[in-house]
Amino acid sequence: TYTPALDETLTQRLREAVRGEIIEPGDPDYEEARTVYNAMHDKRPAIIVRAADAGDIRATVDFARDHELLLAVRGGSHSVPGYGTCDEGVVLDLGAMRGIRVDPERRTARAEGGCTWADFNHATHAFGLATTGGVVSTTGIGGLTTGGGMGHLARRCGLACDNLISVDLVTADGSFVTCTDEHNADLMWAVRGGGGNFGVVASFEYRLHPVADILGGPTFYPLDGDVIRAYRELIADSAEEFNALLVVGLGPPLPFLPERWHGRPMCGVLTCFSGPEDEDDRILARLAGLGPVVGQHVARMPYPVINTLFDELLPAGLYHYWKGSFSRGLPDGAIDAYTEYGATTPTIQSATVVFPIDGACHRVGPEETAFAYRDADFSTALSPTLPTRAQCEANIDWARAFAAALEPYSAGGGYVNFMDADDQDRVRANYRQNYDRLASVKRRYDPGNLFRLNHNIAP
Ligand code: FAD
Repeated sequence: TYTPALDETLTQRLREAVRGEIIEPGDPDYEEARTVYNAMHDKRPAIIVRAADAGDIRATVDFARDHELLLAVRGGSHSVPGYGTCDEGVVLDLGAMRGIRVDPERRTARAEGGCTWADFNHATHAFGLATTGGVVSTTGIGGLTTGGGMGHLARRCGLACDNLISVDLVTADGSFVTCTDEHNADLMWAVRGGGGNFGVVASFEYRLHPVADILGGPTFYPLDGDVIRAYRELIADSAEEFNALLVVGLGPPLPFLPERWHGRPMCGVLTCFSGPEDEDDRILARLAGLGPVVGQHVARMPYPVINTLFDELLPAGLYHYWKGSFSRGLPDGAIDAYTEYGATTPTIQSATVVFPIDGACHRVGPEETAFAYRDADFSTALSPTLPTRAQCEANIDWARAFAAALEPYSAGGGYVNFMDADDQDRVRANYRQNYDRLASVKRRYDPGNLFRLNHNIAP
């Protein structure tokens, strides 16, 4: 395939304005630069700008808008629908903008828009501080935070977007605006869950919490509805410092899991307890009581480490398709679906991951941020993931059937960051009561829908 380069006189002006790298078809770095995390998306942009600073972001936004080119914004590159790339348009890649400044006295951190959670956690852990972020460390703070942001600290600290204090944003007309609850408050509200619809975040300022070492790691059980019911009770009666994701899938080839369980349907409880160490034994006893333990690796570890446990299993270059749903509680019917579809999980890399989003996430009102589902207790990601393109169709069918089986027990919509591109018709349901206000903010700041490669809120 051949993607024509843009007219040289056109790109020359961009080259003069941009300090970062500009990569076009035919350049030695082009193949690597056009590749995104999800191998499903094999796109050929006409130009890739690796921004060095907010000035480069402004120049690229102006360029794409003035020349009516499709614009893809990329932070950590993990978008499952592949919104970080496009055919023939402009990719604005923030991956070189990864500076972080931690203020240990104020307990805040300002991080540039291209940071990953590995960058962020490393910088803040040096001060014994952390905030809610993604459970795979290679994921970007950009897409994750603007979509809401679930992770191991959510019950205690809220969503990633709840911890935002301010953002520096470049809007569709090229303006650079600092948004806080007092200043450009409508944009600040929209960026807390509304995705990349409103502009490009050059940097995020987060509130941090004292979190250093945690008790964490996976405990594996046979796939059994009773284990999941016991997990449901564990979450319901545990303090907010206790978090545990439920993972339904096939046993991974880990040294602490007996070989006969590798590749067999199982459920795992991935614990992250950020409370005091003298409660560890009680928590280990609770985990032992959930069902017959077939493998466990739970220990005190630095907080950043718990967010790297999936990294090796999920390198870039796999084929992903995802579905998402919210639920109030974990109804028995949903648990039946987890066990039924969990038993036919396609590959070891595929997982159904259930994130608790109660506790501090519920202390934010349903209209206080764009993220709308403050009454949901759990958010489920269904993610059949494959090492090759073969079988993708069958696995997409599996995920669709699984999602349909969960639908009667769903709170309505799902988390935008767990949605694939075929779920654009669910955007309104995903934002529920906040959709109309989001559309009016969009009309004001991006009437031409320049930022449309996302779960799009039409202006
Ligand atoms: P990108 O592909 O770079 O960006 C995705 C979109 O986000 C862009 O198209 C753009 O619209 C927007 N965007 C990115 N950066 C910016 C910016 N600086 N300013 C404005 N808009 C921007 N989600 C969770 O909540 N918790 C998890 O634990 C979690 N784990 C995940 C693990 C894996 C392996 C994967 C693939 C996804 C996971 N997700 C999780 C979903 C994740 O939140 C989304 O995929 C998110 O879009 C990834 O952000 P990114 O910056 O890496 O992606």
